[in-house]
Amino acid sequence: MPIITVFVGPAGSGKTTLVKTYSEWLRRTLFMHVAIVNLDPGVEELPYKPLFDIREWFTLRDIMRKYRLGPNGAFLKASEMLISKINDLFKHTPFNDITKWDMILIDTPGQMEAFIFRPVSTVFFKILTKISNPVVVFVIDASAIETLSDAVTLWFLGVLTQAKLGLTVVPVINKIDIAGSNELARLIVEEPEKLAEMAKHYSEEGLLSEVVPELVSIALKTKGAYRPVMVSAKKTNTMEDLHYLVHEAFCTCGDLT
Ligand code: GDP
Ligand code: MG
Repeated sequence: MPIITVFVGPAGSGKTTLVKTYSEWLRRTLFMHVAIVNLDPGVEELPYKPLFDIREWFTLRDIMRKYRLGPNGAFLKASEMLISKINDLFKHTPFNDITKWDMILIDTPGQMEAFIFRPVSTVFFKILTKISNPVVVFVIDASAIETLSDAVTLWFLGVLTQAKLGLTVVPVINKIDIAGSNELARLIVEEPEKLAEMAKHYSEEGLLSEVVPELVSIALKTKGAYRPVMVSAKKTNTMEDLHYLVHEAFCTCGDLT
């Protein structure tokens, strides 16, 4: 049974770059057979070679032109189009015979709200969970974290993804090559309780000091057995940590309470 890993996260968090670097590492270091699937119709250029590419069926540009839509409307249209093709997708390689692969990496649309927070994700994961135990990796951009509320809200977006999908979601903090000294990002990984503690002292920002500790406490309850890892999609040597987390999540999927 291959490990199917789905990369989700806000636009620009590094999903596509991670898929590239992780797949190269898996092939080179563990000699794995890795299949890549691209579900982003909006991407212009891919840094990896996908086994299936949604752009064989439609691209964001074509949809914008054909239906006279802006990019957001076109993303929504694309998500509806994927629903109508969902059975074809699962008849296509690599899904038609997943046993041929050690790992299948799935890259998702840049704008996560056009995929995760639309009906298409329910349809997609319903079928995916029938054929495997998918591991969902939620990518957080460390360089986007400037304030305590940035850290907590990005982390919580991963919790919401878990709530939407009903699957275990493992958070991964990316771009540590440019934001490695980001203390708030480090706290998410190493001392999340401290974020709640800090939030309580936000006396000048009333509502924030009430809401943020609550968010942290919910996030802590749902984090399962995993500790997020910090990686850089530009540094191959951080892929081992990512793989350890993905592997651990795969092995314990289903028996988390
Ligand atoms: P996606 O929208 O989530 O697929 O994000 P991309 O993989 O396309 O990355 C968005 C931008 O961030 C690109 O310019 C990448 O080169 C850059 N990027 C992604 N990961 C990293 C990283 O770990 N470090 C740095 N410095 N840049 C990164
Ligand atoms: Mg992408």
